[in-house]
Amino acid sequence: MYIVVLGAPGAGKGTQAVAIAREMEMAHIASGDLFRQAVERGDELGVRVKGYMASGALVPDEITIKMIMQRVAAADCDNGVILDGFPRNLQQAEALDADLKKKNKKIDRVLYIDVPEEELVRRLIGRRVCRDCQKPHCNSNSQKKPEGKCRYCGGELYQRPDDNAETVAKRLKVYFAETMPLIEYYRRQGKLAEVDGQGSVEDITEKMLDAIGSGIIKK
Ligand code: ADP
Ligand code: ZN
Repeated sequence: MYIVVLGAPGAGKGTQAVAIAREMEMAHIASGDLFRQAVERGDELGVRVKGYMASGALVPDEITIKMIMQRVAAADCDNGVILDGFPRNLQQAEALDADLKKKNKKIDRVLYIDVPEEELVRRLIGRRVCRDCQKPHCNSNSQKKPEGKCRYCGGELYQRPDDNAETVAKRLKVYFAETMPLIEYYRRQGKLAEVDGQGSVEDITEKMLDAIGSGIIKK
């Protein structure tokens, strides 16, 4: 089963994708995490993508599509995949559809997490992320410095360099221009399920699992 999680930066894609992947015993593939790991390693991919990420722009499709297709071909994806952060524009969506078709596979469901724009900005500027497990932590007081340890693994919390006001504005602009059209793309294919992204993390996970269950047999 292939599931795409769609939503703006700060909508909670990562948090929910992890929860659903665990629940359904599927692989979780987050394009942003893969890029950040490459930057951290300082390898060739990392060097190529660093500048785009820092400015809030999309990494060029050629690089992104290649990286994801390689990752999706790995053995741990046989049980199904939750895609988080990819596809992010029409070209990527079409490339993914074409690649899956060649393997006689397809996207089964697209879960769109809907959150109002003001809320997105508040969450992104206030959040801290674990360096080890990547899990986001909300900080309602955005003035506060990053501090404390990850509540899941004890790792160090830090503020992502792209979670500053200027880059957040750019990322949201890119999202509205490039990624929003995918909602219509998948709605036309009859695959879209919309979920309200405000409420408790657990309630939203539950709603998303329901949306996967409807019309599809849960693994
Ligand atoms: P967010 O959804 O919070 O913006 P991500 O971790 O998904 O964060 O992505 C961080 C950055 O990584 C993006 O701003 C972009 O530069 C790059 N990136 C991630 N996924 C893609 C993608 N599918 N296509 C192009 N660039 C991407
Ligand atoms: Zn952690």
